[in-house]
Amino acid sequence: MSRLPALIVGGGPAGAAAAITLARAGVAPHLVERHALPHDSVCGGFLGWDALAALRDLGVDAFALGGRPIERLRLLAGERSVELPLPQRAAGLSRRLLDEALIGRAQMMGAIVTRGRTVRAADPLRRSLRFDDGEEMAGEALFLATGKHELRGLARSLKGRGEAPAVGLRAVIPGSDDLDGVIEMHLFDGGYAGLLVQEDGTANLCLSVARERLGAAGGVAALMRDIMKQAPRLAGRMGGEVPAHFDAIAGVPYGWRAAAGQPGIFRIGDQGAVIASLAGDGIAIALASGTGAAQAFLAGGAQAAVEWQGRWHRRSRWPVVVAEALRHGAARPGMRDGLMRLLQWMPGLGAQAALLTRISAPRRDGRRSGARSSPGRG
Ligand SMILES: Cc1cc2nc3c(=O)[nH]c(=O)nc-3n(C[C@H](O)[C@H](O)[C@H](O)COP(=O)(O)OP(=O)(O)OC[C@H]3O[C@@H](n4cnc5c(N)ncnc54)[C@H](O)[C@@H]3O)c2cc1C
Repeated sequence: MSRLPALIVGGGPAGAAAAITLARAGVAPHLVERHALPHDSVCGGFLGWDALAALRDLGVDAFALGGRPIERLRLLAGERSVELPLPQRAAGLSRRLLDEALIGRAQMMGAIVTRGRTVRAADPLRRSLRFDDGEEMAGEALFLATGKHELRGLARSLKGRGEAPAVGLRAVIPGSDDLDGVIEMHLFDGGYAGLLVQEDGTANLCLSVARERLGAAGGVAALMRDIMKQAPRLAGRMGGEVPAHFDAIAGVPYGWRAAAGQPGIFRIGDQGAVIASLAGDGIAIALASGTGAAQAFLAGGAQAAVEWQGRWHRRSRWPVVVAEALRHGAARPGMRDGLMRLLQWMPGLGAQAALLTRISAPRRDGRRSGARSSPGRG
């Protein structure tokens, strides 16, 4: 079996960022994505200013793709609401468009992209991948970018976690004029719903809910009816009807970070660190880790993986910890109420919290893009 220099599993933001970075440095990576065609993902589609800057540096302009500018955050909990300015301009864009643009960019730069094939398992010692038909491929380095999905042989270890992973749900509902320029977040017991207008004028509705709450309701439709009672303004957004179709993802281990590296294996995106989605920073972290890991490989080869993963573990710590505190606070009635009162009284705290959850991508010129609060190198 011949060995390719770099094999990337997954064509989401993390895998594509790694592919672009490697390809434009002259190392043609091989990226494998299981979807043959453009697809949506269970994701809110919120791009923070750090994600926008990282995308620009990779050669992708979210606004040119139709991304809708977002300048304000509207938080709603029961009858209470508060509107806060964001520290910088953000955007709303569907993952269908974003992921296609990134993969297209990687191909244009010289990456070899195989679509419509699923990697079934990895062998970390041999740094090889196995496909359905038994074919194997080996690389000097493996970049694991399967995001919300586990890959046999390299699955995230969730042993010892006190909390069951969350459930993610996504539906498309009609947009509305008063969502222009806003990301709206509806907080309720055990989770939240994010709402923003995407490029075609429809609204992307994305929810993250504790698994126990879904279990207690007995199904998605019953859960939604339950949430709509607790969040009447969200129910209003849906015209009082549960959307007919939801995409779902089970098992989102918020707060998880890869603690130790393995020789030749770069764990990037959600396979390296999972920030609570209400921080709206998962895509930025995916881009930053994909870019950073590829740069580490270019500088030090496959051996650089263990050291890089350790650095990424340290660097992602504070944003993940702050986002976890916000997630737990927002999901509990007493703390949520306190949080809303505090923000009504001191709206500037919202911007501070948004800055504390940011990780910026290492740029081609070695400086950081987009953020102000990330110690250490990436
Ligand atoms: C409910 C919810 C809402 C969110 N909202 C936001 C938001 O608004 N803004 C934000 O910044 N972040 C948000 N996030 C987080 C964000 O979606 C992730 O952090 C981000 O998508 C991670 O990127 P990734 O490239 O690591 O993985 P993914 O985006 O999950 O991409 C992984 C890719 O790998 C492919 N793949 C998986 N397994 C295989 C395999 N075996 N073989 C081949 N291909 C494979 C998949 O098809 C996919 O294309 C949200 C998350 C959730 C759960």
